[in-house]
Amino acid sequence: MPILGGHVDSSGGLHLAFERAAAMGFESIQVHPTPPNYWGSPKLDDDRVEKFREAAAAAGNPPFYFHAVYLINLAGDDATLRQRSESTLAGYLAAADTLGISGVVFHTGSHKGAGFETRLPTITEHLKHVMERADPQQARLLIENNAGQGGCVGARFEEIRAMLDAVGDPRINACFDTCHAFASGYDERTPEAARQTLDDWTRVVGLDRLEAVHCNDSQTGLGSNRDRHANIGDGEIGEAGFAALLKDPRLAKVPFILEVPGFDGRGPDARNLEILRRLAG
Ligand SMILES: [Zn+2]
Ligand SMILES: [Zn+2]
Repeated sequence: MPILGGHVDSSGGLHLAFERAAAMGFESIQVHPTPPNYWGSPKLDDDRVEKFREAAAAAGNPPFYFHAVYLINLAGDDATLRQRSESTLAGYLAAADTLGISGVVFHTGSHKGAGFETRLPTITEHLKHVMERADPQQARLLIENNAGQGGCVGARFEEIRAMLDAVGDPRINACFDTCHAFASGYDERTPEAARQTLDDWTRVVGLDRLEAVHCNDSQTGLGSNRDRHANIGDGEIGEAGFAALLKDPRLAKVPFILEVPGFDGRGPDARNLEILRRLAG
């Protein structure tokens, strides 16, 4: 079975994420260490690092990811914005390495109509710089697939593969978001369709580069190119598709991270996790 968990609030201290996750039964964890709609990188000092490492050890060192700020864009034509994105990502990755967590998930950004191929050399250069600047010994950088809205890079699995190949750094992996894949045209509504989508990923990106799954149903339809997460079973994908993904031996031991609205509207909750557990059998 995958390692089931979700995104939690880390306000008041990163170490608090562990108890909040435990309260909901999450065994894999993701946080926004800084507010996602503002520029910034996690600020650490010895005290924070120690508190975090203690809490992590007490929790059994579960898979733990940072989700980088949403403003990042390595694919645009604004060089200042790209540089800022590069330093922010490097700051995130260095902090992840200092804390000893699994890695940093991020969205590559939008080429705004210029086309993926046109922007690939620039994206590659920035990603190489991020890895040089942060030089993580253990933490990974995870490229997330997206819903394909507004020229966003990485909706097609081929684009993720192209970026991984172009950078050629084994410390970069990928994160598969079920809602984003569905919104960009990869069906997951039936067991057959879910398996087919996973076959596509396996063939194009490779299972060895699939480090985490963002587990979200979708409010909008197949190929809608809209990024609207729904609670598991409450959206257009539905329970049958999730059951197939959860039971697929290729995803056993992969961290599944809920980023759903929650049944009380306050984010990933115990009820969504219970649904995943039930569907996993
Ligand atoms: Zn996601
Ligand atoms: Zn999303």
